[in-house]
Amino acid sequence: MEQKIDVVFKTQQAYKYTLRKNNAAQRIVKLKTLKDTIKKYESALYKALKSDLRKSVFETSVTELFFIYGELDFAIKNLNGWMSPKRVGKTLTTPFAKNRLYYEPKGVCLIIAPWNYPFQLIMSPLISAIAAGNCAIVKPSELSPATSKVISKIIETAFEAQEVACFEGNASLSTSLLKLPFDHIFFTGSTAVGKIVMEAAAKNLTSVTLELGGKSPTIVDKAADLAKAAEKIAWGKLVNAGQTCIAPDYVFVHEQHLDEFIGLYKAAVNKMYFKTDKVDLKAYGKIISPKHYKRLKSLVDEAVEKGARIDLGGTFDEPNQTIYPVVLSKIPKGAKVMEEEIFGPVLPIISYQNLEEVIDKVNSKSKALALYIFSKNSKNIKYILKNTSAGGTCVNDVLIHISNPKLPFGGVNGSGVGSCHGFFGFKNFSHERAVVFQSRLDFSSMIYPPYVGKEWVL
Ligand code: NAD
Repeated sequence: MEQKIDVVFKTQQAYKYTLRKNNAAQRIVKLKTLKDTIKKYESALYKALKSDLRKSVFETSVTELFFIYGELDFAIKNLNGWMSPKRVGKTLTTPFAKNRLYYEPKGVCLIIAPWNYPFQLIMSPLISAIAAGNCAIVKPSELSPATSKVISKIIETAFEAQEVACFEGNASLSTSLLKLPFDHIFFTGSTAVGKIVMEAAAKNLTSVTLELGGKSPTIVDKAADLAKAAEKIAWGKLVNAGQTCIAPDYVFVHEQHLDEFIGLYKAAVNKMYFKTDKVDLKAYGKIISPKHYKRLKSLVDEAVEKGARIDLGGTFDEPNQTIYPVVLSKIPKGAKVMEEEIFGPVLPIISYQNLEEVIDKVNSKSKALALYIFSKNSKNIKYILKNTSAGGTCVNDVLIHISNPKLPFGGVNGSGVGSCHGFFGFKNFSHERAVVFQSRLDFSSMIYPPYVGKEWVL
């Protein structure tokens, strides 16, 4: 495999000089080809995502395909504008010069993706890489093998390997790829592996975009519409069975509202997933692997052993790799469920007395990928925004910030480096080159030596 990778990498390194000359129209043809090819493989994708994650057709269409068609259409519509050099203002040192910002392709890029939205998380950065005029090697996750196979077919059909190639495999394949001197690496995955990627990239001084995970807190203010908050949090927590990087990880609820909120959350879960007294397994995702299933079960078991209260769920279906929605409250200090990213349908609720206490708890953890606020009090909303940091935030909603390509999507420190989607993705895969066109009216020589006799200061 290493030999094959080496050949493709060298071919792409040579081809990048040809590819960089492409204009917007030529790149748009490539994006359209990608879109047409995805369309051809739609039914295979529905089947693959069902097999890997038991995603329903509707969930796949909304969270994977619709999302990618949206990104493609947005790039196709705006690429001309994104690529055109941007004017910047003059300064005292360049008073008559033309100052421009050029977006040039980085070159050969590596894209590594996780398994939770296995199609979207390969395609979204790939769209940006192509829009920006790059060659790319992509590596889907080994934990979603059916989707990985379809991705590989789509790429083989739409592109020559000298431009885009797909290598399927596990962490050891990633390790081999990471040794190569790529011009940019775009990694989506866990914070722990993100550090390994950044370390490997440092050896070649390769720039990185890291889309990582972490614990995304949700704050339900005393002045919130509790029913709406409960419904939206239930949706955000349980889509893809909680295996969403920006899912509300845990929730703060005012102590006076704790029981009411739990009741409303249960009602929302029943409305969305329980037809009779059982979860409809056709419409509820499975946990990706036995290892992740065990990890989630042990998070719940450990919290309960230490004294946490189970307010909902606690039913585990190992043969179907399914965890029914869980709510935990009265979580004791030191419980792992409040230390590591949950990434499953388990919702710890922390009751609080005042917002200062909430802010202290949020800020005692690594900066989150997402932070959600439910409140009707604009003073409290501003207070929370001003005193916390997160990759992105929704006020009175969850997840939806990811769906607007006019907004950057990404984390901060522990939850990521750089951002993606729309122009932000294009920019990530481009080098912003500063270009000054000097004018014939040029007074630069005023600052040249000899300095003897120039006793004045600017
Ligand atoms: P992961 O870090 O285990 O794996 C991600 C990718 O890295 C996979 O392709 C895997 O093969 C590869 N990999 C694994 N170990 C490696 C190693 N030692 N060296 C090199 N490569 C390695 O993550 P995961 O379990 O696939 O995904 C879940 C994580 O991804 C969660 O933390 C989640 O929050 C995060 N995530 C983030 C975003 C985002 O946009 N910020 C989106 C989805 C998922």
